[in-house]
Amino acid sequence: MRILLVEDDPLLGAGISDALTRGQYAHQWVQDGAQALALALHETFDLLVLDLGLPGMDGLTVLRRLRESGQASAVLVISARNQSSDRIEGLNLGADDYISKPFEVDELLARIRALERRLAGHQRNILEKGRLQLWLDTREVRLDGQSVDLQRREYMLLRRLMESPSVIHTRGQLEGVLYGAEGDVESNSVDVHVHHLRKKLFSDVVKTIRGVGYRLGKVD
Ligand code: CA
Repeated sequence: MRILLVEDDPLLGAGISDALTRGQYAHQWVQDGAQALALALHETFDLLVLDLGLPGMDGLTVLRRLRESGQASAVLVISARNQSSDRIEGLNLGADDYISKPFEVDELLARIRALERRLAGHQRNILEKGRLQLWLDTREVRLDGQSVDLQRREYMLLRRLMESPSVIHTRGQLEGVLYGAEGDVESNSVDVHVHHLRKKLFSDVVKTIRGVGYRLGKVD
């Protein structure tokens, strides 16, 4: 799930950006409407979290142009303007959900998770593969029905592998998932997390593709 956050208020934007990081969402934050539209048209985002009052181009115009171009990203509108006319216009223009300022970031994250589930077509908020079950909201992981205690990055790694079980992920891609834009990543950190997953779950859970990377192993 890749998110484009469009919010010109630096404090609120930073707060939401932090919350998205905590929620383990890959995201990009821009503060200008025109820049947001250009990005959304040229890159693939699963979701736009879109403020309405923006410099450059207002949020409703961004949304309208986005939909006119046939861009299908989900859009969650945020606005200080708690007016039903904006809400209705936003929804008419193809927004998927709407939240009014002020709001708790936890509420925003809950809305994003709900949209994520809708997008994924998940009936339940859970990934299941063979002996493994992984909950997307509570981050619980079970092996053969028994809860297993994973560290945050071990969970993120397992989640990524389970989301795309047939994909081989390079070490660099997994570092991106686990550490985002953080600079100092130990060169063997992904291998360390893989080692821990194998120890806490079972040795075949992650398959090493020599010279390439990793994918989900035999989990039946
Ligand atoms: Ca604003």
